[in-house]
Amino acid sequence: MSNEHVAIAIDGPAASGKSTLARELSQRLGLIMVNSGAMYRAVTWQVLRKGIDPFDSAAVVAELGQMKLDCGVEGLASTIRVDGVDPGDELRSEAVNRRVSTVAAIPEVRERLVALQRRYLEVGNVVMEGRDIGSVVFPETPYKIYIDADATVRAQRRVEMGEVDAVEERDREDSSRKTAPLTVPLGAAVLDTSGHTIESGVAAAIELLEGQGLKTEAIRGR
Ligand code: C5P
Repeated sequence: MSNEHVAIAIDGPAASGKSTLARELSQRLGLIMVNSGAMYRAVTWQVLRKGIDPFDSAAVVAELGQMKLDCGVEGLASTIRVDGVDPGDELRSEAVNRRVSTVAAIPEVRERLVALQRRYLEVGNVVMEGRDIGSVVFPETPYKIYIDADATVRAQRRVEMGEVDAVEERDREDSSRKTAPLTVPLGAAVLDTSGHTIESGVAAAIELLEGQGLKTEAIRGR
């Protein structure tokens, strides 16, 4: 991990509020926001568009070796291109929602994406959200939040976003896989967002991060 830059790790199940919290922290503290799920989604999107069976790990790994992944930053947000193409809204299609956990369980996929995720810290201060950020990607950062919400609240949030997404099934797969399962990372503060508004949830998260030693004034704009 770069000795200069700060990494804030946000982990949690699907639709727990990770992206909202990461976006707010990014804007308020001037951090690069990295949506690591988008990277797993981009690989899944490529696999599906090439007609590859996501359950055929060998075929997925072969395609992984071929595909060009460009991870960048625009403004404060991470971007991803696969073979020069930005998948855009297709990353959140029903087909990708259904198969992303299968592809994300393949160790070689994780290895390649974790390496790309770590490189963001060379660019600047980062808030990264995902499933294994505090446990695997940046285990040594002191700033870790595990965010959760009731299953009914989470399913409702997806419906409100107009998405077809079996969040419980995805969580089950993400929590039970062998490599880097969803877990509360060592040292993480747990925040339940079920009863929170965005504003109160962000305030609670900032308080937890400050409790972990984060000097929010000092990192702003660094
Ligand atoms: O965060 P999001 O719901 O977009 O993530 C999509 C999927 O990507 C997750 O269900 C999980 O299978 C995978 N993922 C992962 N590790 C991460 C981020 C996402 O395995 N750090």
